[in-house]
Amino acid sequence: MIYFDYAATTPPYDEVIQTITEVMKRHYGNPSSIHRFGEEAQQLLTKAREVTAAALGVKPEEIIFTSGATESNNLAIKGAAFQYQSRGRHIVTVGTEHPSVLESCLQMRELGCEVTLLPVDREGHIDLNDLLQTVRKDTVLVSIMHVNNETGRVQLLEEIGPALKAHYPRVLLHVDGVQGFGKLPVDLKRWQADLYSLSAHKIRGPKGAGLLYVKEGLELFPLLAGGSQERGLRSGTENIPLLVGMAKAMRMASAQQQQYAEHVSALRDRLLERLSAIPVLEMNSGREAPHIVHVSHPGMKAEVILHSLEEQGFAVSTKSACSSKRPEPSRVLLEMGRDQAQASGGIRISLGAEHTDQDIDRLGEALEQIIHKLKPLERWT
Ligand code: PMP
Repeated sequence: MIYFDYAATTPPYDEVIQTITEVMKRHYGNPSSIHRFGEEAQQLLTKAREVTAAALGVKPEEIIFTSGATESNNLAIKGAAFQYQSRGRHIVTVGTEHPSVLESCLQMRELGCEVTLLPVDREGHIDLNDLLQTVRKDTVLVSIMHVNNETGRVQLLEEIGPALKAHYPRVLLHVDGVQGFGKLPVDLKRWQADLYSLSAHKIRGPKGAGLLYVKEGLELFPLLAGGSQERGLRSGTENIPLLVGMAKAMRMASAQQQQYAEHVSALRDRLLERLSAIPVLEMNSGREAPHIVHVSHPGMKAEVILHSLEEQGFAVSTKSACSSKRPEPSRVLLEMGRDQAQASGGIRISLGAEHTDQDIDRLGEALEQIIHKLKPLERWT
């Protein structure tokens, strides 16, 4: 079975597994303890913070460790909205964001905030003028993802961030960076991001570890109250093994980013070329993120294609992992102007550095055969 679902999660690097095991065995102290075991754990935590900060080009004090990007996104959005409610109660985000962003915003709407969802065009991009016209004096936060997890479409943060800040210097910019880090260059200073979320398991680190970059000087209302770990922003005993594992994965991913992007984009282009020769398929992704190819077959249910591919030894996905068990069409594709049939027939193929030209060719061939064979039987529109 060949795994083509790297946007859902990735196999951890061997070095990460070894590091985590080693830390679990040898350094089980609580970093808040003041004996030697605690100090050892504290040193590991400090080092992990330095490494993750260096990978992002920020200061170690600006890193808040979390359990993953769902938590980071919740903390960024709700923490900023609660903290800065005296500035205003308007939040702006995009209709194609990850549920952890959208649902956090919608919870804030229940609590009295006004939330505006920006539309995207058929390529999944927001319009900068649209954003600038939507932001108001009472806007507290704008949350825009770097790379979309379903379609691999990339928002031009190097243009969006500076333009937003030039017009509205006090409005906070949060970026969900989960699908971009290690895949494309990340420049938080240039983007003028105030908050940036990351998850370890998308970059060959462990599940259950993530971080939130919080720009120096910014306050957030903590969502977890307790022992005041992580500068009081995220109480709870730090998961040292996973955080050290995440730091290792981030160091490796950022060192290999360019090489990764060259190799994986070439695989993506090979696959795109092959799939664009199948006339019935519609492309939802472009040559943007290296690792995501997304196509729709409007005459076939995505699950049918997925299960047929699985029988032939390929694991792909229909939508994002968190929503693929729900029967509704993809919200992201509907937002991009696709109709119900197109939004229900989406297949996401996400690539990793281990894949070869041969893997791509075998997958392309299998998909071609399935579409050819199933077409007369499985039409549902
Ligand atoms: N944002 C995006 C863009 C994602 O792809 C994901 C993972 N599906 C998340 C947030 C949530 O990350 P985690 O699994 O670490 O909670």
